[in-house]
Amino acid sequence: PHVARLIAAGEVVSRPLDVVRELVENALDAGASRLEVEVEGGGLGLIRVRDNGSGIAAESVALAPVRHATSKLEPHPGAVERVTTLGFRGEALWAAAQAGELHLVTRPAAQVGAAEVVAAGEDVRVRRTSAPAGTTVAVRNLFARLPARLRTQAAPTLEVRDITALVGRYVLHHPELHWRLTVDGETRLVHAPADHRGAVASVYGPLSANRVLRVEAEGVQGVVSRPELTRARRDRMHFSVNGRPVLAPSELEKAVIEGFAELLPSGVAPLCVLDLSVAPEDHNPNVHPAKQVVALADLPGVAARVRKAVAQALAAHPL
Ligand code: ADP
Ligand code: MG
Repeated sequence: PHVARLIAAGEVVSRPLDVVRELVENALDAGASRLEVEVEGGGLGLIRVRDNGSGIAAESVALAPVRHATSKLEPHPGAVERVTTLGFRGEALWAAAQAGELHLVTRPAAQVGAAEVVAAGEDVRVRRTSAPAGTTVAVRNLFARLPARLRTQAAPTLEVRDITALVGRYVLHHPELHWRLTVDGETRLVHAPADHRGAVASVYGPLSANRVLRVEAEGVQGVVSRPELTRARRDRMHFSVNGRPVLAPSELEKAVIEGFAELLPSGVAPLCVLDLSVAPEDHNPNVHPAKQVVALADLPGVAARVRKAVAQALAAHPL
């Protein structure tokens, strides 16, 4: 059972990037306006996410690293279909505690004292402490108990590159928040509240930000870059669906490109950040454990809206 548990945890958290994503999503679910992500040793040494969100009340803090314990789902059928939070499985902190050493300090703003949870494998300790309002979660020595997992990890520089891109995606979709990413003690990314254009400036630099146009249509909000200055980099096409950053189906990337019509040379992709809103029943976030693959019941309809929104933005800002 011990080995089975470790293997199961390794499915939820298979690389440092997964831990970063889960901790950031927890901070967003907690309504934080300020998120700080720290990574050391490619994430295998340390991953720490500090937020100023709701915190966890003293009476439920011991449950945080318990498998399937979540505060985000009502215990009745159909709740999963209506979930509006990024998390709902209650597995991330549990998996992090199995795969590494979890250290959590949390305090709801209205509570006087803070709680500290230290969990490694099955060992969970809780004690009282003092701390600012919000939550700090640190995961150390990831995969130290899973040598097979440790051996298959990418080089730290590659993992850091992907983590930086991941945090950048969250910044692009949540430009209204304060963000900071620190790698081995050096600031990689800072962002103060701004609009989508400001987020493009923080993530890709001011030159890219100067090239973007606002896209503002029913259910499609964001920015798209001017075509004459675009590059063939589809890794700069970003979509979220109902607040959840997703790996967009290629139909959506294609829709953006088609929105440019003849304005876009072939083989070139624009930078875009588009936040899509769809009816809850048109969207199933429950298809993949990492929840990044999006299942849209009416993908052609959504793609058509995106195509039209991009075309309108280009028409409104003649080049
Ligand atoms: P899930 O997010 O699917 O509920 P997690 O294992 O990620 O599961 O977290 C377990 C629970 O711990 C959450 O449901 C939430 O109540 C609490 N929690 C975790 N991180 C935070 C945070 N940063 N701020 C407030 N509560 C948190
Ligand atoms: Mg979670």
